[in-house]
Amino acid sequence: MLSRNSRSIHTCGKLYNKPYIQNETMLENIRVVLVNTSHTGNIGSAARAMKTMGLSDLYLVDPIQPPDGKSSAMAAGAGDVLGNATTVATLEEAVAGCGLVVGTSARSRTHSWPMLDPRQCGEKMIAEVPKYPVALVFGRENNGLTNEELQQCHYHVCIPANPEYSSLNLAMAVQTLSYEVRMAWLSKDTINEEPNEYPLSDDLERFYQHLESSLMGTGFVVKNHPGLVMTKLRRLFNRARPESQELNILRGILSSIDKAVKKD
Ligand code: SAH
Repeated sequence: MLSRNSRSIHTCGKLYNKPYIQNETMLENIRVVLVNTSHTGNIGSAARAMKTMGLSDLYLVDPIQPPDGKSSAMAAGAGDVLGNATTVATLEEAVAGCGLVVGTSARSRTHSWPMLDPRQCGEKMIAEVPKYPVALVFGRENNGLTNEELQQCHYHVCIPANPEYSSLNLAMAVQTLSYEVRMAWLSKDTINEEPNEYPLSDDLERFYQHLESSLMGTGFVVKNHPGLVMTKLRRLFNRARPESQELNILRGILSSIDKAVKKD
């Protein structure tokens, strides 16, 4: 017998009981972002991969070519996801309003960043999506995401593929990670967990700009020669993942430094 707020979902012959709100809103708020995609067919295949897993919010950052007939052919029955895709110019615009941003990478980078495996990634997204939209960011077919783009993410996720050949086709990477999101969603039976209040990615971006400008004010960072210091600081704050209130305190500290510097 199902409770009043639940409805049943039959998946592969198994019956899952889900609280109603999960069905209605959680998956809708999981954003898949494709950065600078070269092959229009991959955009369609990614849309199809998403729809099979119940995801629908597709963002295209500056695609080399807009979706075309090839995209529609590869999307098959997911033409709605493709048709509703939002195209923007920058990654910053694509993740604006998101409280959790996870970047994907086929290899680990020199500056190690907090890492998730695909299972942890799905679980984290489902744990946090009741609070705000969350984003999974995918890179270019030829050379993935740039370091700057990866630094805009709270976490990185790597599908632990064959180390000798670890680079999946873009849409297949979308499929694999969307599947993990779906599995986490299917196995979560309550939404009572209260995740901490984290700032949205645009608030965090404003904080980094403020930090850089304050550090220029004190002379710690030299204009046009920020070197690695800002990257290291971003890594530090991404790892610490300040909560909204903590970020407000940090902004307050920066403002007090700005004031003190102006007085000198
Ligand atoms: N040659 C590129 C790989 C590009 S594959 C590189 O080395 O970075 C295109 C995109 O698919 C990647 O940017 C990433 O978003 C996704 N992808 C491919 N393989 C992946 C893996 N093993 N783990 C996570 N994402 C992967």
